Amino acid sequence: MLLILPANSPGINHINRLIMALLPVLRYPDPRLHKKAAAVTLVDNSVRGLAADMLETMYAAPGIGLAATQVDVHKQLIVIDVSEDKSSPIVLINPEIVTRQGEMEGEEGCLSVPGIYETVKRAAHVSVRALNLDGKAIEFEADGLLSVCVQHEIDHLLGKVFVEYLSQLKQTRIKTRLAKQARITV
Ligand SMILES: [Zn+2]
Repeated sequence: MLLILPANSPGINHINRLIMALLPVLRYPDPRLHKKAAAVTLVDNSVRGLAADMLETMYAAPGIGLAATQVDVHKQLIVIDVSEDKSSPIVLINPEIVTRQGEMEGEEGCLSVPGIYETVKRAAHVSVRALNLDGKAIEFEADGLLSVCVQHEIDHLLGKVFVEYLSQLKQTRIKTRLAKQARITV
């Protein structure tokens, strides 16, 4: 359904909100999760629209991070919100990790691997460079949950899912379990 209204109509913000879409999330072991994302060359309204839809999809799941790869768009864009009250959305375009320090282990989950939580070893502290939604270069430091989340989402852009840090045996078990789940939910 497409709604066309003049831009100055009352309630246009409400309509815009309705047009925002929840995007289907690919499920491991879908081979499209292993595609490498291409750099975004121009931060335009289509990129901003994708970011808005991804945030909506992430909040609805609910999740704390989502990479474009997971919604089958192979562009370097990730969204994150690790705040308690879901009030601090972060959108990173062409993100890269500049430095990594220390080591930490934490339990991770993924919207593409529903119901599976496993411990993964990551850098404790990272510094990150990216573009924001205005196309401006930004750089920031992250530790704790934000650090883990940034590393997890950037991995998605490289075609890597967190379960690939686990043993082959565990990966096989997870694939079997997800295949069973998919049969039940279909
Ligand atoms: Zn994930």
